[in-house]
Amino acid sequence: MYFVRNTSKIDGNGGCMTKTPEWLSQCRGELVALRKQQDALYQRLMNPPPDMKAGSLSLQYKRCGKATCKCMRAENPEKHGPYYYLITHKSGKTVLRYVKNQEDREAIQRYEAYESQIKEYQALQKKMIELFTSIQERRSHGR
Ligand SMILES: [Zn+2]
Repeated sequence: MYFVRNTSKIDGNGGCMTKTPEWLSQCRGELVALRKQQDALYQRLMNPPPDMKAGSLSLQYKRCGKATCKCMRAENPEKHGPYYYLITHKSGKTVLRYVKNQEDREAIQRYEAYESQIKEYQALQKKMIELFTSIQERRSHGR
């Protein structure tokens, strides 16, 4: 019954904003689809991974300084690494801390994944509001 389309097409002039008489039910269908995605995401967000370490991970490759080492070659140097660093922000400053073990690294990666789901949730919210606003606008200007 509902017309469900790819949500990435909702921005701009496409989406349900067609000139057909069914535009309103199409718009509602899209809202329902977005809401479903959001609910599914919400369920996942309510069950965060137990062990997370806040921040983001930075991979770095380095030169050791030994003149004969492959990392010091002028052409195609093979630097050492990757070395992992935890990036956090404290009172406006960026703090870089070396991450020694793999457990910590994975805990940071879990946090990054969780954080991106939160952003996805917010993006869905924004899309829904935009869609709802354009429905209201279109209705107030007549069909
Ligand atoms: Zn080296």
